[in-house]
Amino acid sequence: MGHGAAKSRRRGQRPRGTFAEPCPVVADDRTHRGKLPGKTSPAYRGHHDSQMRQNAAKPKIQPMLAQRTLKSLTKAVGVGLHSGQRVELTLRPAPPDTGIVFRRVDLPEPVEIAVNATAVTDTRLASTISNGNVKVHTIEHLMSACAGLGLDNLYVDITAEEVPILDGSSASFVYLLQSAGIVMQKAPKRFIRVTQPVEVREGEGRQVKWARLDPFHGYKLAFEIEFDHPAVNSTGQRVEFDFGSGQYAREIARARTFGFTKDVEAMRSHGLALGGGLDNAIVMDDVKVLNADGLRYQDEFVKHKIRGQTAARRLQRVSQRPRHEQPAVACLARAS
Ligand SMILES: [Zn+2]
Repeated sequence: MGHGAAKSRRRGQRPRGTFAEPCPVVADDRTHRGKLPGKTSPAYRGHHDSQMRQNAAKPKIQPMLAQRTLKSLTKAVGVGLHSGQRVELTLRPAPPDTGIVFRRVDLPEPVEIAVNATAVTDTRLASTISNGNVKVHTIEHLMSACAGLGLDNLYVDITAEEVPILDGSSASFVYLLQSAGIVMQKAPKRFIRVTQPVEVREGEGRQVKWARLDPFHGYKLAFEIEFDHPAVNSTGQRVEFDFGSGQYAREIARARTFGFTKDVEAMRSHGLALGGGLDNAIVMDDVKVLNADGLRYQDEFVKHKIRGQTAARRLQRVSQRPRHEQPAVACLARAS
């Protein structure tokens, strides 16, 4: 936490555009805590105890959750994981209700692709969005960073078909976005409220994948993977993460993409993974991790996968029911 942020919190103000800014779900939670009669019940006490005590002393209702964008523009240069192509990214502030909009600025006329569920056209090796024939691949690490930091509105100018892989995680994007600064806008955030469980399934037996959303006040993800590989087996393959914890940048963002040498060779023969290597992925042979420095988290594999799910947050994060009435898990998914 920056010194400035600590100070402004002591004065009881909401810190603005700082690394310490709480995740929007937390802020939302506090808003409700301020209003609900049962706010002192033990069921309400979580990791934000100290903030709550402050609220209890000062029962003023928090301002409505505001949309967020960048304070200034920021740029990054890197290579695409699959294309190996050099690409420049410029992240720019956008007005309220813009959402996140990619712009292919390398084309004769820039083409915009707004990120939403219908723009997603491929999710096999990476998440791809399209507008007609114009595509942007591998948006998921940047999207996860935006979700983790609660960014609603952003223009992403890009000079090639694939987002740069940088260090293979969302951490570089988190750093970029935080360095540019994050500001509140004069418009309330909008949420989709899950009112009843929703479940999708694909495949059967050991190949089954499923995801389920349950009503929940807040946003919490549980995720499980099943990779039958000695190096992955020796780590935790299940993780649960509460976005109200404000720990996204520390606990989740740094988890890297991973791959197996035999798949990498096959992918390369098909012109894929050309930009991939030990500096932007965890690479494993048949038994072990090949990266000299090992893993960033004991359970880095599953954390990378849950990180991928964070992009979906924009679609389904808040229900109106108070937390203590709800089961702990908002979403459970399994992928082998
Ligand atoms: Zn990934």
